[in-house]
Amino acid sequence: MNKSLQKELKIKGLPLSPGLAIAKVCMFNERRHSNLPMYKVRGEGIELEIGRVERAIEIAGNKLDEIKKQVAERIGNAEAEIFVAQKMIMEDTTLIEKVADLIKNHCVNAENAVSSVLDSYETRLQEVDNEYLRDRASDFGEVKRRILDVLSDMKPSLQCTDEKHCQRGKNRIIVAEELTPSLTVDLETELVLGFISERGGQNSHGAILARALGIPAVSGLPDFRKKVGCGTELLINGDSGEVVIWPSEETITMARVEHEKPILMPAASDPVLGLKVMANISLATDVKEAIHMKAEGIGLYRTEMEIIISGKLLSQEELYQRYSNVVKEMKGLPVTFRTFDVGSDKPFPFLNISHEQNPSLGFRGARLLLGKKDLLQNQARALARASIHGPINIMYPMVIDLAQFLELKTIVEEAIKDTPKGTIKHGVMFEVPSACLDAREILEHADFGSIGTNDLIQYMFAIDRNNEFVAYDYNPGRPALWKMIKIVADAGAATGKSISVCGELAGDPTYLSKIMNLGIKVVSVSSRLIPGIRNELNKECNLMKGEK
Ligand code: PEP
Ligand code: MG
Repeated sequence: MNKSLQKELKIKGLPLSPGLAIAKVCMFNERRHSNLPMYKVRGEGIELEIGRVERAIEIAGNKLDEIKKQVAERIGNAEAEIFVAQKMIMEDTTLIEKVADLIKNHCVNAENAVSSVLDSYETRLQEVDNEYLRDRASDFGEVKRRILDVLSDMKPSLQCTDEKHCQRGKNRIIVAEELTPSLTVDLETELVLGFISERGGQNSHGAILARALGIPAVSGLPDFRKKVGCGTELLINGDSGEVVIWPSEETITMARVEHEKPILMPAASDPVLGLKVMANISLATDVKEAIHMKAEGIGLYRTEMEIIISGKLLSQEELYQRYSNVVKEMKGLPVTFRTFDVGSDKPFPFLNISHEQNPSLGFRGARLLLGKKDLLQNQARALARASIHGPINIMYPMVIDLAQFLELKTIVEEAIKDTPKGTIKHGVMFEVPSACLDAREILEHADFGSIGTNDLIQYMFAIDRNNEFVAYDYNPGRPALWKMIKIVADAGAATGKSISVCGELAGDPTYLSKIMNLGIKVVSVSSRLIPGIRNELNKECNLMKGEK
């Protein structure tokens, strides 16, 4: 497309992550089978697509086993056999070969190939003059639905729809409907320069990760995907939320001049007296940046990101490798592992969780860990083994009251009673209002607490942290929030237990004095925000010295 023929178009969106990016678009293909994605695959893409099918069949097969077990228990063995039949169809080698042939020879994507092959089986059976076989036709439809379901949830991959020289995201601005956490981290390895998403609020996990990765991002642009295509040139300003489609040379020069701050990592700064600044990390590999920024510990390791990004449950050994690496690298500084906080905006399809009307209030966080004890037990053993290399804190997410905390702690202690271990503390994430109100009681039993303001704001003010339409109302300045934080801070002081703040507002220098005035002396923020917080405190101290 000749740029000189294009008219520049400026649009204002919601700034998610600061910085300037000027690059071409790579459209992200979402895989929702209500609107089946159709695209061509070539080269290495062919093997990737076949791999997706194989993995989807494996996952769908495991789900069928689970369903079969439940049906056998609740209804009866005869009924459970239906699912055995479906599994046989799914695992039939001819089916897999046919799907793979279609992908190889017709260069079609996984969804397209699965759908064509299973549709043709179903149609042929419907035409057979045998009632029994005709009845079996619907099994093929069901199998198709199950595989497509898994494919639509699987770790996404980048694939431009119509550009010959698709760079698979490299040096591009990715345009997607929504910036999910797995997409964000997936893209990090692809040298992505910027993100645009139609939906998603400033406190969504995708936005948090984009900021942590230092990738400019803008959201809140409905129908944006209709305005651009692969290769469209864009300028995005993650500070103001401005997006320019086909920016003119003049606009680009202006933006570069105005945005004189190079998009580099801020320089590391030394720890400051009176405030411990720790790092929030998502993956074990993030620990390097935390160390570079002289973090005084890891205040929040969002361990669920490891499994979400891997697209599968990890074995105890795989978890141990990651956890022990972080503990060793931190050389005796505390590492706070938040147990898997999945569900709601951090979906994890491999857990077989049924569709929920309102997942933010559903089977998630602490509730999910209690419902899936083996998940927690496996993680607990990996954590205990990691604690041999240095002190660790185990923090439970979305806890609602003391009873729930004690239940979780007991499961963990039981699971690790025979595992050799080092020093382990158990704490609570204060992010549900009921737990904050009960903070005193909870802290009598817990070793520490950390205030997760991202969710606390969501649950206190009935405001979806991921919804860009209500982002204007997501306001950490409201006095009620600070009253709630004070309750937790006071409970910490009364019980002598350490309280930190690890939500996004802890990384915003505007709120630092409010936090410290409540007697909180520990914050945990994205590594790249550490210098900003320390500099703010130094500034405030210098001001006070000047006033004296
Ligand atoms: C929070 O809720 O404030 C928090 C730190 O956890 P997350 O953002 O991962 O939900
Ligand atoms: Mg939270």
